[in-house]
Amino acid sequence: MLDTIVVGLGLSGVALSKKLEDEGKNFLVFEDNSQNSSLVAGGLFNPVILKRFTLAWKANEQMNTALPFYRRLEDKLATKFVHKLAIYRKFFSAEEQNNWFEAADKPLLSEYLDTNLVKHINDNIPAEYCFGRVKGTGVIDTDVLLKEYRSYLKKESKLKVERFCYDDLKIEEDGVTYGELSAKNIVFCEGFGLLKNPFFNYLPLRGNKGEYITIYSEELQLDKAVKSSVFIIPLGNNLYKVGATYNSRDNNPAPSEEAREQLETKLQQLITCDYEVVDQSAGIRPASKDRRPMLGRHPEHQNLYCCNGFGSRGVLIAPMAASQLFELMEFNNPVSEEIDLQRFTKKHYQA
Ligand SMILES: Cc1cc2nc3c(=O)[nH]c(=O)nc-3n(C[C@H](O)[C@H](O)[C@H](O)COP(=O)(O)OP(=O)(O)OC[C@H]3O[C@@H](n4cnc5c(N)ncnc54)[C@H](O)[C@@H]3O)c2cc1C
Repeated sequence: MLDTIVVGLGLSGVALSKKLEDEGKNFLVFEDNSQNSSLVAGGLFNPVILKRFTLAWKANEQMNTALPFYRRLEDKLATKFVHKLAIYRKFFSAEEQNNWFEAADKPLLSEYLDTNLVKHINDNIPAEYCFGRVKGTGVIDTDVLLKEYRSYLKKESKLKVERFCYDDLKIEEDGVTYGELSAKNIVFCEGFGLLKNPFFNYLPLRGNKGEYITIYSEELQLDKAVKSSVFIIPLGNNLYKVGATYNSRDNNPAPSEEAREQLETKLQQLITCDYEVVDQSAGIRPASKDRRPMLGRHPEHQNLYCCNGFGSRGVLIAPMAASQLFELMEFNNPVSEEIDLQRFTKKHYQA
């Protein structure tokens, strides 16, 4: 008998599987490549909300959990996918500069906001009001992480590349069965795919489509991430990701012309050199109504769990969420109230 079946191997499923493995649990993962939010993500880990210069929800704690988690996974897979990368926020006015200084005075933010403003970072990115640097930031190459971890699990016979069919799940008193398989519990980490899950689709999951374009520019020569009305993230070899868009009305997973135009317009306001668009990608961020993760146990079925709702911050949230979910499954320690899916039971669940 398995300890756990995991459905979905995006950032949520990876963090949970690694936790299960670390704890010596016997598990099997299903992944059908139906969603690609984690695959196309910019992969930035940045504790600061760069619109308002505030600390993202629980960002300090998440930074302390997430970075050691990804470093350990790098060691395990003998692959590099964590890259330190400075983020420079371009200011649009003297008022924004003042807001930055005010924010940098606050105890938790002072660690991350550099008060030495930078006048020039690149010949092709003029900035009348300078840039502010966020400290301690970087990027996870989620494409490398997911591919390497998937191939590792495959070799260990812990991954089935197939769709998990909800109709075939049988819920028993002390576990679940699925065809030939039996397990003590099952965790659904399907991202936006949750909408098709009859056990958890009562949760108020909101899709938020995000798109990037990838540009090629020999002239740009940028080795930092720049945040203006869009991010530019250097990928190496004169390639850069530019994005992302946010669209909660469009759940079509394909890249759109509208997003490409929007991103190019913003890019042209930011850089002065030539570039060529060489690629475009899209994914649906799984967000919740109140912008907090949704994890925990099914209101009726004790062996069914969900780990979802990471929105636009999956890189930092996933390791913390996996850890809390494991504590709940193994020791019955409740997850924090503000992320516990039970907050939606009364209003949204009908037995
Ligand atoms: C354009 C874009 C940019 C982003 N940039 C960042 C960023 O810079 N930093 C950051 O922290 N976050 C970023 N995000 C958000 C981040 O990607 C998400 O928070 C995160 O990917 C959510 O992970 P997940 O595992 O919950 O969902 P997903 O990545 O959607 O993974 C769910 C997995 O479950 C699988 N699945 C679903 N149903 C089934 C089924 N029935 N059977 C088998 N498998 C199934 C899917 O194929 C998928 O692989 C970005 C998102 C987008 C779209």
